[in-house]
Amino acid sequence: MAEAPRDIEALIDLMARLPGLGPRSARRAVLLLLKKREQVMVPLAQTMAQVALSVRDCVQCGNIGTTDLCPICSDPRRATGEICVVEDVADLWAMERGAAFKGRYHVLGGTLSALDAVGPDELRLPALVERAREATEVILALNATVDGQTTAHYIADALTGTGVTVTMLAQGVPIGGELDYLDDGTIGAALRARRPM
Ligand SMILES: [Zn+2]
Repeated sequence: MAEAPRDIEALIDLMARLPGLGPRSARRAVLLLLKKREQVMVPLAQTMAQVALSVRDCVQCGNIGTTDLCPICSDPRRATGEICVVEDVADLWAMERGAAFKGRYHVLGGTLSALDAVGPDELRLPALVERAREATEVILALNATVDGQTTAHYIADALTGTGVTVTMLAQGVPIGGELDYLDDGTIGAALRARRPM
């Protein structure tokens, strides 16, 4: 029971693969595109085609960009000697939104996972060890999951003897968070990460 012509259905199917869009929202999005052809659909299609051709991974940090060296790696002001290690480009973007970190990044492209058979060679770990030789500090900003923490410990071990300082993000009470709502693990981590005031 096709409600739309076949190629429009195909477009809906493709859109429904996007995160946060199920079949129903994909249908609504496509309908909006069709109604706003000139203002939205044509520029969107052109930009998508253009980016699809030019997108590439930064050769140094693994960030997604449209040049061989991403804007962060080519900005001399960010040569602070600090490298922030993140699991994914989404985490890099999250760190950049925080606007607190002024150094450069290293995107691993995942975490070590025994379950999914992801070993060090599947990640950009050898490149990190290489870059760490030129750095003063490697900051591990990995997710507070079992795989994230396993990876953090693996990296700390791999960097032993390179002379670089290895740190990790503090875990604890989120800004605006109430103690009563935190889980026991977070409260324990916050207590261990306490500092003088
Ligand atoms: Zn880069």
